[in-house]
Amino acid sequence: MAIELAKRVLDRLEEHGFEAYYVGGCVRDWLLQRPVHDIDICTNAHPGDVIRLFPDHVPTGLKHGTVSVKVEGQMFEVTTFRTEGKYEDYRRPAEVQFVSELRLDLERRDFTMNAMAMDRNQVLHDPFGGREDMEHRMVRAVGIPLERFQEDALRLLRGVRFASQLGFAIEDQTMLAMKQTAPLLAHIAVERIREELNKTLDSKAPEVGCQLLNETKLMAYAPGVEKLFVLSNEHVWRLHHLESITQKWSLLLFAANYSPVQSREVCQFLKMSKRETEAICCLVELLTRLQPQWDVPQSIEWGPLLLEVGWDTCNEFAILLQACWWKERQSFSKQALIDQYESMPVKTLKDLAITGLDLQVAIQKKPGEWIVHVLESLLRQTALHGLPNTPEALVEVAKKEVAQDEH
Ligand code: ATP
Ligand code: MG
Repeated sequence: MAIELAKRVLDRLEEHGFEAYYVGGCVRDWLLQRPVHDIDICTNAHPGDVIRLFPDHVPTGLKHGTVSVKVEGQMFEVTTFRTEGKYEDYRRPAEVQFVSELRLDLERRDFTMNAMAMDRNQVLHDPFGGREDMEHRMVRAVGIPLERFQEDALRLLRGVRFASQLGFAIEDQTMLAMKQTAPLLAHIAVERIREELNKTLDSKAPEVGCQLLNETKLMAYAPGVEKLFVLSNEHVWRLHHLESITQKWSLLLFAANYSPVQSREVCQFLKMSKRETEAICCLVELLTRLQPQWDVPQSIEWGPLLLEVGWDTCNEFAILLQACWWKERQSFSKQALIDQYESMPVKTLKDLAITGLDLQVAIQKKPGEWIVHVLESLLRQTALHGLPNTPEALVEVAKKEVAQDEH
């Protein structure tokens, strides 16, 4: 168990006369009986002491006092108690100072529920009332909320994300300060913003996050993104049934009536990867394309779609369709897609019994675009219409198609 291994780190530090605690998210999640995914440790030992006591370490962030310590293959971040100096660019402190008191370390943390520490005997240190706030299901900034968001504007979105993940409300003063400092989010790297939005959408109560984003106007500096979080109850219900973040962004974009081109602009603004952008735009395009037919009970021809956009996108699309619109219609189900996919004797150009070069040699024609066109046509016919996948059969059909084209 990770907690047992982490305790060994605490024990060793304590045995050498230092204080050491579990701290932050792991204490919060442990008290809430949620799965604990990373265990952070704080200590009054300086990084040099930590390095000396744990030969198996990685100096991950010495400047900020962090050493990663390895115990039986598991890494734990051990960070020296610190306060943070003046903040630069609404995000990072210019410098950190090591301090000797736990309380000062907890004071620099963002929300009361993240500002708790626990020692190796499970005694809780909770100077800002995090436990009580959690009992009241409340996200509350540590100290003066306005100052805390001015120091680091990413905290605005972290607050929304925690409310979403835990289904908590935001305490009044904290909420007021969020509204007042919302424009500062424009200073934060868009990758960090995207990461928090993804966690919000992927949370237990994404509707809480969407509602908060609307209420606080946090995304007002990016109107194209802001509009996505105005969701009808129906779409909230759909969001709950989706599995991946790709599906969730696609649903939001589609629900906002964004075209594939507008969707691409949003993905690019949020600096999503090329792969993610393509997948999302493709799903929006498919949803838009099929929308006019939704009232007509008919089945989807997965075959042509599989050849057009591939298995991965079809799979995401099937989940979207079934979760959102057609739960009751088996013909749209994922099983129908799997059956269709498995029944296709060839699935991509690579599966064809001939290559472009074979074609060129057999037909004796200058290489050009015709090769891809003919190969794609052969793929359709073998995958969907029973053309045997043998070199002879393929070359024969190819010759006919080329001859027809030339007439
Ligand atoms: P999770 O890991 O579940 O996303 P977390 O609260 O553990 O949530 P981390 O980013 O792992 O978040 O940070 C660990 C701890 O560091 C937090 O619990 C909090 O005490 C502190 N912390 C992280 N980011 C900030 C921040 N921007 N401002 C102040 N304190 C922060
Ligand atoms: Mg964490």
